[in-house]
Amino acid sequence: MALMIEIQNLDIVFGHKGAEIHAVKNAALNVPEGESYGLVGESGSGKSTILRAMVGIVPHWSGTIKIDGTQLEHKRSIASRKHMQMVFQDPYGSLHPRKTVNDTLSEPLAIHGLDNRDERIIRILNEVGLGPEFRFRYPHQLSGGQRQRVAIARALILEPRVLLLDEPTSALDVSVQAEILNLLSDLRRKHGLTYLMVSHDLAVVGHLCSKIAVMNRGEIIEEITEDQMRSGDVTHEYTRQLWTASHGYSREALQNFKEFA
Ligand code: ADP
Ligand code: MG
Repeated sequence: MALMIEIQNLDIVFGHKGAEIHAVKNAALNVPEGESYGLVGESGSGKSTILRAMVGIVPHWSGTIKIDGTQLEHKRSIASRKHMQMVFQDPYGSLHPRKTVNDTLSEPLAIHGLDNRDERIIRILNEVGLGPEFRFRYPHQLSGGQRQRVAIARALILEPRVLLLDEPTSALDVSVQAEILNLLSDLRRKHGLTYLMVSHDLAVVGHLCSKIAVMNRGEIIEEITEDQMRSGDVTHEYTRQLWTASHGYSREALQNFKEFA
């Protein structure tokens, strides 16, 4: 299968000389078309920064990012943005409070000059399990899970091939998390999408991803397969801690969680 995402030697530094934060260090990963790839690590390890560089929110990166074989420029044309969309962590902050669902979904269609807007909006509302009755609602009339469904609809209405998911369920109640993960899983299969999904929780990405990169302090320290995810047969001690913490959320494991420099 052809590679949809190829990242090599990715380096991202914030701040000025003397007070630099090396957020991403020499990162590399490959995601075949149609696969779902996870990126885990504690808060601050550089996960979101990688996704932000990919969609162009963080412009100052070095290295190579290729999507479907084409190298990304630092400045993106509108047309090139269509194929890769991102879903953000916080469904409360990511939807404009005074815009209806219809406004939110119309915007990307207008920017990219797509026609048949009514048809596209109704179709995508059905696909994310909301239905047309949600079309003229405001965010405050929606639950957290419904908001995240709108955010997913906004990302998918442009019919992208790659979806970047930044902790898409971590702001949601546990009962709703599984619903959203199942929805994402169904949508990927149905549309042959490629996912790169970030989480601080190995159990969440383990649910959805066939390969997982473990990040610690800006570095990818290990890549684990689905089999390793099941068996816990991992190489790095830091990964083992994440794995133990994700299996039953053992209090002891969490108490013994050590920082690795
Ligand atoms: P994660 O998503 O894994 O929690 P981030 O990618 O958000 O981590 O952050 C990685 C590091 O980069 C952190 O130390 C964070 O404080 C820093 N960082 C992220 N964005 C910025 C920014 N815009 N300016 C300065 N530092 C940043
Ligand atoms: Mg983050």
